[in-house]
Amino acid sequence: MIVLFDIDGTLLRSRGVGLRAMQAALESLYPPRSADDHHDLSVIDTAGRLDPLIWRDLLAQRDIEPTEAGHEAFRARYGDLMRSMIEAERPVVELEGASNAVSWVRDHPQLMPALLTGNYPETGRLKVAGAGIDPDDFAFGVWGFEADTRRGLPPIGLRRGGEHLGREIAPDEAVVVGDTPADIDCARASGCRVIAVATGRFTEEELAAHEPDATLRDLSDLDRFTRAVHHCLPQLTT
Ligand SMILES: [Mg+2]
Repeated sequence: MIVLFDIDGTLLRSRGVGLRAMQAALESLYPPRSADDHHDLSVIDTAGRLDPLIWRDLLAQRDIEPTEAGHEAFRARYGDLMRSMIEAERPVVELEGASNAVSWVRDHPQLMPALLTGNYPETGRLKVAGAGIDPDDFAFGVWGFEADTRRGLPPIGLRRGGEHLGREIAPDEAVVVGDTPADIDCARASGCRVIAVATGRFTEEELAAHEPDATLRDLSDLDRFTRAVHHCLPQLTT
């Protein structure tokens, strides 16, 4: 069985380094043409969204046409800038209990941890490492560039998990752990289980309204987390 961890707001927070690195990358690739030709990060919705969609939103603010080549150039520059920002500012902080939760899943004989996130793999792994969690603790990742919407990610996770285990994984053998209604929605749309954690911008009450299988204030209490996983996966025998 697999546990698919979201990154931002679930395992860590990063003082907006992603959005700032995106802005800096775009301004270096497309220097502002006038004083009011700039990005307005305050109106960009990032919660649970895929990085390529945020890139499109930022381009649209300045009437720049999104192209495949432009995306590749952006992705490379964004990765470089995020790496230097993380090294210079150390903005990434593990959310309390996250690494213990990942380790518990990693060491459980019937479970496999993976990442399911809107990040690109190179920047997602940078953030995870910046939080002091080994990105290689996860068997695989499902990344923001791999589907057009977040709902497209869990089916990839099920397929990839099946490849790792050498057998088909049913949707109810997978649990998404995430901090936004988008995490709950994408899990539900694929028939996966979902644990919501209120360590992002949504409260327990706001998340509970979207009817996850379990809601946790945070991951700091390993017992509560493991009980939530058992509740989601009653097939677990240990
Ligand atoms: Mg998140």
